[in-house]
Order: sequence, then structure tokens, then C-alpha cells
Amino acid sequence: MKRFLSFFLAFLFLAGALPLFSAVYAEGKGTELPEVPIESPETKVFKRKKLPDKSFRITGYTGSDAEISIPPEILGFAVTEIGDGAFSGKEITRVSVPDGVKAIGAGAFENCARLETVVIADSVESIGTSAFKNCTSLTSFSVPARTSVISSGTFSGCTSLKEISLPAEFEKIEADAFLGSGSVSVVYFAGTREQWGKVFIDPEGNGAISAATLCCSDDDGHAFRTVTVAPTCTEDGYTALACTECSEVRVILTFSALGHEYTETVTEPTCTERGFTTHTCSRCGDSYDDTYVEASGHDFGADGNAEKCAVCGEKNPDYKSPVSFRDVPADAYYKAAVDWAVSSGVTLGTSETTFSPDKACTRGQAVTFLWRAAGQPEPSGKSNPFGDVKTGEYYFKAVLWAVENGITLGTSKTTFSPGESCTRAQIVTFIWRAAGSPSPEKTANPFRDVGNGDYFRSAVLWAVGEGITTGTSKTSFSPGAKCTRCQIVTFLYRAK
Ligand SMILES: [Zn+2]
Ligand SMILES: [Zn+2]
Ligand SMILES: [Zn+2]
Repeated sequence: MKRFLSFFLAFLFLAGALPLFSAVYAEGKGTELPEVPIESPETKVFKRKKLPDKSFRITGYTGSDAEISIPPEILGFAVTEIGDGAFSGKEITRVSVPDGVKAIGAGAFENCARLETVVIADSVESIGTSAFKNCTSLTSFSVPARTSVISSGTFSGCTSLKEISLPAEFEKIEADAFLGSGSVSVVYFAGTREQWGKVFIDPEGNGAISAATLCCSDDDGHAFRTVTVAPTCTEDGYTALACTECSEVRVILTFSALGHEYTETVTEPTCTERGFTTHTCSRCGDSYDDTYVEASGHDFGADGNAEKCAVCGEKNPDYKSPVSFRDVPADAYYKAAVDWAVSSGVTLGTSETTFSPDKACTRGQAVTFLWRAAGQPEPSGKSNPFGDVKTGEYYFKAVLWAVENGITLGTSKTTFSPGESCTRAQIVTFIWRAAGSPSPEKTANPFRDVGNGDYFRSAVLWAVGEGITTGTSKTSFSPGAKCTRCQIVTFLYRAK
């Protein structure tokens, strides 16, 4: 808000003052305690002194707000005075003095260089010397209705002051009240020309007032009163003289629109709703959103199979509860691998309640598990070099896919031997080839039973490096041992 506001606006402003009392009740006993006033954070920043009549004099301000409303009462006691120098030198831009205050002390707002707007209730009867001295941003001032004197130095050094409004009962401007306030251009007087003739203006240091244009309520036979419409964010404001008896309006000053003052609030995205930034004007409430951020999506865990979203608790529609098998103890090294294999469809149990972890895997099963873990890719061709792999077998597509991708070469050119037990060497080789036959990072070979010339040597060393196997002891891999169901799911789980 800038510049000038009428007396009417002062009342509107004060009507918004916050309630200062809170009732406190004894809990559970049904006894009502006497009302205890609780000081609000807003009133704590106003230093004060208790006067003999128990009302308060504001003596200082410790807050940091630029726009301040002095409270009409604190802890139930009225605020009746603004003390000498109470706000002097503060970085405030706007102040409202509430109804009930009778006196503003000497130098109360002296040297408030940023102070632009002062709204004073009509209860104020006296304004002390130099009260607004050197308020260099102040452009207009309405002297309250019951204040009949402008004291010495009150507006001296107010270099931006352009208009001053005086009440009808006004009596006296003391020496040097407007010293150095040479830009005053208009004086509104709520009384008549005749009444103005009785106002005493000390000529000492008040040349600005004598030089300004005077507007009285009865100029040119009209019955003027001043009307001020404050500027808003989007609309210009003005001060005008409007006749109460005809349609004559004389616009004296215009104030340009203030523009919005937006503050930003960021609403973070949730699992299902996008986030955005809301800009809200602190003055008029105008608001708009922008800077949208996509919804974050639910967090159903790394494997997507958590029962609920870790963020919002929403149930996972694709959740597959891990089957608990009698023969898979909770502390078995392969428990997590079995849970993963079952929930991701790599394999089922051998019955509703058993997984048969120690049962040997056939080559047909091993290739099928690998194929399912890869997401069951469709083989591109139909060429099947193996006489022992028949169309319609559950492993048919898996074997074709494995051949196409160089994962298996068969046990001979024309046999795959799907029913033969799969050895540990074979399954590790399958997984290694499925990963693209990468070279092992470390070539040190801890296993006595893995020879330099063995076809599975690189596969085993790679698998050790990747943490997929640790061997059957520190020095043995047991390449020829039958690969059990728990071993193969563990290999696949670690390799995924
Ligand atoms: Zn008129
Ligand atoms: Zn606005
Ligand atoms: Zn969620």
C-alpha cells in the first residue's frame, strides 16, 4: 500500500485486528478456570510501559516486519500512547495507529526513511514535536480529526511530502513544522474558507504551506469533501474533491497501480498427483500455478513386489505373496532367491508346500528358468537342431531361444539332452553366455577342480567376480556336481 488512505480506510484496517484472548480450561475436571490472556507473537514485538491507568504506552519495536499494525490492546489492556522515539529510525514502510491511542510522542517515527503510509485513527489528539521528521518517503498525510495542532518540526525534512489533509476543527501550525518540506503542493482543509482564516500558521519555517494550493470544503460554492481511492494491484488510485451537493469532482492526485506481490509455495508431487508451484499475491490473493513436476509413482521396492508403497502405503496390485515352503527354512541362504524366483514366475514349487531345494535340475529345467528370468523372449526362428527337443514340451521355446543366443550348443550337434541332470559347470556357463560371455575381471583361480583348458573356466571366474558363486569350498567349485534347484535359483537371483 502506498501513499494516502482516508480515515474510513483506517477503520476498515482496524476491524481486522486479531483477537487477543484465549480461554484456558482445566482438562478433565470440569472446572472452568478464569480466562487467562495469552500474549500473541504479534504483540510480543512491541515493547511497552504500563501507565498509572493500567493502559500501555508503546516504547519500542523489536520486530522485522516492514508493514506494522500497532495492536489496540495487549493482554487485555488498551494501548493509549506511542512513546517518544518509539519507532525512530525503523525500516518500516507502513504503520497503522489504532483507535484508542490518544497521543503520539515526540520523534515517534523520526528518521523512518522508508515510511510511505501512515494511517492514524481519529482518537489521536496530539502528535509530538518532530514525530515524522525526516520521513523522506512520506508523500501524504491526514491529520486525525481531533488533532488541532501540528507541532514544531513534525514534518520537517519530509522532502517527498506532497499533500496534507487537515480536519475542520484544526487550529494551529507551529514554527518549523514544515521546515525543508518544500514539495507540499496541496493542502486540503475540511472546513470552510472562513474557518481557514482563523487557523494560525506560524510563518517561521512554514513557507511550504503558504505556497501550496489550498482546497476548502466550500470552494467555488461547492461542498467539497476529499475522497481517496487507494490504488490496488491492478487499478490506479486517486485523491479527489467531490461535491456532496452536485456532481463536481476534481481529481487532485493519482496513484499508479501497485502491481502484484507474489509469494511462492511449492507443493511436492505425490505418488499419483503432480507437484507444482503456487504464486499467491499477498496483497489481493490473486493466484496461479506453474512449474509442474510429474507424479513420482509408487515405490513398490527394487523388484516391484513390495506389498505396499513405501511412500503412501497404497497396496501393490501386482503383489505376489511369497509362498512359504515347508522345506525352505527362513534362514536358508537361498530363501530370498526362492521368494524372488516364485514371485517373478521363474519357477513354481514342486507342490503347494514344497520347493525341493536339493532336487537335481534337468538341463531342460535349467534353460527354462534362465529363459523365464530373461522375461520369456520369443525365439525369432523356428529352426530346431535337436531331435530330442519336441514341439509342445514346456522347454521348447526356451531351448530355441538359448540356441539362437549362443547360450547352449547342445550335448551334440543333434541332441540337447533335456532330461539329463544339469551340472554346476553347465548352469554357470549358461548364465555367463546369457550375460554376453564377458571376460572375468580377475584371472586368479582359487579352484583346484577348474582347469586351464576347461570350457567353463572363464564362466566360473566371471561368476566368482560377480558374486554369483563362491564355490562349494574355498578351493573347489565341483563343476561336475549336479546343480540343485536351490543352487540354480540362487545363481539366477544373484545374476539378475
Ligand atoms: Zn457542488
Ligand atoms: Zn495482487
Ligand atoms: Zn505411493
